[in-house]
Amino acid sequence: MSSTIKSPWIIHYDASSCNGCDIEVLACLTPQYDVERFGIINTGNPKHADILLVTGSVNERNINVVQQIYEQMLEPKVVIACGICATTGGIFKECYNTLGGIDKAIPVDVYAPGCAVRPEAIIDAVVIGLGILEQKRTALEQGKLVSEKSADCVTAADKIVDGQTVRAAALKITKG
Ligand code: SF4
Repeated sequence: MSSTIKSPWIIHYDASSCNGCDIEVLACLTPQYDVERFGIINTGNPKHADILLVTGSVNERNINVVQQIYEQMLEPKVVIACGICATTGGIFKECYNTLGGIDKAIPVDVYAPGCAVRPEAIIDAVVIGLGILEQKRTALEQGKLVSEKSADCVTAADKIVDGQTVRAAALKITKG
C-alpha cells in the first residue's frame, strides 16, 4: 500500500453549492468524524491533491474553474461528486445556466448522493476513491493508465436546434 493511500490529500471545490454539502464536508474535519486521524489532509493546492471533492453543480460560470483544477492535479487522481447537485444538478438541474452534475465538466470516479450528503457518505466515498486511486497508481506504474482529460466531457452552451432549445447536458460526449 502506497503512502498516498495511507495519507491522501484532498482538495475541496464548491462549484455552486447552497453550502449545505460544504458544511458536511467541514463536519468530516471536526472532532466528531476527524478524518485527519486517518491521515487525510485538506489542501488548497491542486498540485498537492490526490482527490478532488466537488460540491454543487456545474454552470456556465464555473465549468472552466472545475476543469482547470482537475487539469492541474497530477496522475493518479480521483474525483468525488459530493451531494445530489454535484451528481446530477439536483434541485438546480432545470435552472437556465445549470449544465448538470460535475461529470459534465470532468470525469467522475465516485458519486456520493444526498441532500445534503452525510459525512458518513463522504467518508465512504473517499474510502472507495482510495481503492480506485490504488488501481490507477498500479496502472500508471505499469504504463497502462489512460489519462482522462476534461476535454473528454464536451459540454456546450444551450443551442437552438430546429426552433427547440437543446439542453447542454444532453450534449455530453465521452470519447471512446
Ligand atoms: S445537494 Fe442539497 S445540500 Fe448539497 S448543495 Fe445541493 S441543494 Fe445544497
